[in-house]
Amino acid sequence: MTDPIDRSGLRPRYWETTPLNRMTRAEWEALCDGCGKCCLNKLEDEDSGAVALTRVACRLFDDATCRCGQYDIRHQFVPECITLSVKNIERNLYWLPETCAYKLLWNKQPLYDWHPLISGTPQSVHDAGVSMQHQTVAEFEVEEDDWEDYLIEEPT
Ligand code: SF4
Ligand code: SF4
Repeated sequence: MTDPIDRSGLRPRYWETTPLNRMTRAEWEALCDGCGKCCLNKLEDEDSGAVALTRVACRLFDDATCRCGQYDIRHQFVPECITLSVKNIERNLYWLPETCAYKLLWNKQPLYDWHPLISGTPQSVHDAGVSMQHQTVAEFEVEEDDWEDYLIEEPT
């Protein structure tokens, strides 16, 4: 399958030698494995602050491609959508999925073999069962009070 993220021309295994704050824009973007989990709605426990991900996806999430349906203009529709950067990653770690490449590298952990940078294909993320492709329900189909019925286990 065609990789929706341009991973061409990158230095071999740059993520093992280059800190997050020294990466080029292209290297940073290429870290995203395309799992789609950051497009899921979350539930936060008011007392403990613990966050659980649900299968209830953002209204712009395209479950077939596992991508944002309007990425370039998404903030017109979803102003609260976070653009992850090296400056804000630390305060967003608490809700990012355990398999997220940005979180793994921030925590000095290796990427999984199914990561497209290692496998050479974005399909490996879906084959490994870690993506949300064909796994979600749309947020306009589920009342917010019922989101707790759609919790996902992490990591899946
Ligand atoms: S959770 Fe991380 S790796 Fe997965 S799509 Fe979001 S930013 Fe990319
Ligand atoms: S606006 Fe797009 S990138 Fe942001 S959470 Fe929704 S589907 Fe994901």
